[in-house]
Amino acid sequence: MTDLDETIDRLVRPIADWPEPGVTFRDITPLLGDADALSAVVDGMVELAEKVGPVDTVLGIEARGFILGPAIAVRIGAGFVPIRKAGKLPSTSLSTSYDLEYGSATLEMHVDAMVRGARVLVVDDVLATGGTMAAAADLVAQAGGVVAGNLVMIEISSLGGVQRLEPIGCAALRTY
Ligand code: AMP
Repeated sequence: MTDLDETIDRLVRPIADWPEPGVTFRDITPLLGDADALSAVVDGMVELAEKVGPVDTVLGIEARGFILGPAIAVRIGAGFVPIRKAGKLPSTSLSTSYDLEYGSATLEMHVDAMVRGARVLVVDDVLATGGTMAAAADLVAQAGGVVAGNLVMIEISSLGGVQRLEPIGCAALRTY
């Protein structure tokens, strides 16, 4: 186990049965509040992002992808595009609906958020079933972009998200 694994284990707080029975929520806020840990996690995710090759746009998924995504985008010289829950974006948007580990949701992205052919890195905090990342890929495809890679801090491997996202898969700093 690496130092970074230990940091994530120490500072990502598992909350049993939240937001509903049977779900163990991985709360990253203690880690975000620790300067050294936050820096180490961003460094680690940048290292994984660099393996993806050239990236024009980092796509962050509301809400915690908005915290990690821009930090990574700045470091790899890419722009940042937010994917938001339904009804939040001010301009003409593309839309896709999907299932979550708990419940279902609709995600949206501005129709002009990226140029056609843009190479996109999708970033989030946690990969569970992969439904959210698959929905992001659908929005990228609708906009004429290409998903070059998916990246999270934490993968919950028992839920099969990486397999669902094949052949691109999803890189993770820590797998539970
Ligand atoms: P999924 O679409 O099932 O892969 O779920 C991933 C999305 O839901 C991400 O945006 C996560 O932030 C959130 N999420 C799902 N399950 C968890 C969990 N156990 N702990 C923290 N966040 C989760």
